Amino acid sequence: PQRTDCPLDKEELGRASWGLLHTMAAKFPEKPSKTEQKNMTNFFHLFSKFYPCDYCAEDFRKELQSDPPQTSSQEALSQWLCRIHNRVNNKLGKDEFDCSKVNERWRDGWLDGSCDY
Ligand code: FAD
Repeated sequence: PQRTDCPLDKEELGRASWGLLHTMAAKFPEKPSKTEQKNMTNFFHLFSKFYPCDYCAEDFRKELQSDPPQTSSQEALSQWLCRIHNRVNNKLGKDEFDCSKVNERWRDGWLDGSCDY
């Protein structure tokens, strides 16, 4: 069988999950309603209860307690998530991502046009 047909390991699950989460933040409204803000906060809390890597989820819940989701705008949410992801990167000894580039990476594509096809 192809590796793509197998259960996800921790790294694959992480990559797929960050992809979903950053893309959700990228598409979040510029001016969200109170309900949209509350729903997005609830989403992250529920996500952290069911994320299928137990110790990752536990750390994520602690992060949400100390640095709650910033849901006032697309920019606020994307920057918050970038910060949270960078803390996981730090913990794992990975490079920090430059959060000024988060909309290029997840919403607009790189300014050099390398995503325009
Ligand atoms: P990933 O970290 O998966 O990142 C994918 C892509 O996102 C990168 O290629 C880059 O283009 C972009 N990116 C990187 N950093 C940022 C940022 N700060 N903001 C925006 N975009 C960025 N693994 C563990 O071993 N232990 C854990 O405790 C753990 N906790 C996790 C908690 C959560 C909520 C999630 C979603 C994942 C967790 N993981 C954990 C998985 C881990 O974060 C990685 O996903 C995995 O190691 C694969 O890493 P990667 O190098 O492919 O890039």
